[in-house]
Amino acid sequence: MASRKAHASPGETFLVSEIYPTIQGESSLVGHATVFVRLFGCNLRCVWCDSMHAVEGTGFRERTVDDVAGEIRKYLGESESDATRGIQFVCWTGGEPLLQWRSIARAISSLPGALVHTIETDGEIDLRAFDAEVRGHRDAGRVRYIMDVKCPGSGMTAKHAYENLERLRPIDEVKFVLADRRDYEFAKQVLGDRPTRASTILFSPVTPAHEVRRGLDPATLATWILEDRLRVRLQPQIHKYIWPGKERGV
Ligand code: SF4
Repeated sequence: MASRKAHASPGETFLVSEIYPTIQGESSLVGHATVFVRLFGCNLRCVWCDSMHAVEGTGFRERTVDDVAGEIRKYLGESESDATRGIQFVCWTGGEPLLQWRSIARAISSLPGALVHTIETDGEIDLRAFDAEVRGHRDAGRVRYIMDVKCPGSGMTAKHAYENLERLRPIDEVKFVLADRRDYEFAKQVLGDRPTRASTILFSPVTPAHEVRRGLDPATLATWILEDRLRVRLQPQIHKYIWPGKERGV
């Protein structure tokens, strides 16, 4: 399906695919109730993409920053009288959310200061401009990247990800989505050659999606990690176990 012309106004509007509260299925924040903001549009086309509805087609709406911030606030469910309640995390994902970084920065500034925002980025957008815009939040640990380095099995080629690796901080996380042994060897090589301060390294096995019919067996990946005693974190996507076969709203 062809995309209709999709342009947001930087800092004013978003192209939104979906917004929903769910359980975070990835990263070191796995298991936490989180508000997901899935923005529309992507600079890449990974063969195993499990969010193509946010990459191509007409499944998006242009919405103002204030409108999106209002919907996020509505889902937080905070209670002044009960400190055990209220969502504390917002995950900006897509598509590639940093294509809309000016609007994200504005939304973050207008939301409660105690929230932790994770930015799931594909690694191929230069982080510097957004970083400068949200510097105070980054210094406070409230804006964190979960940054992919694209492996060969994605059908994409990592280029900017190597420079971005040098810009990460200990609060950030690097994710390799692995389709096979070749991707595993590639990820090991990147970790050996390209130092990063990010303290969490995620190895996530591919699951069948888009053009890919067969995933990588998590047990096989676990065996490789154990054989090499790698300091990485095996990361199956738990939302796919909780809600099998469901693509949207999880
Ligand atoms: S970068 Fe992410 S959203 Fe874009 S095509 Fe790849 S997997 Fe899909």
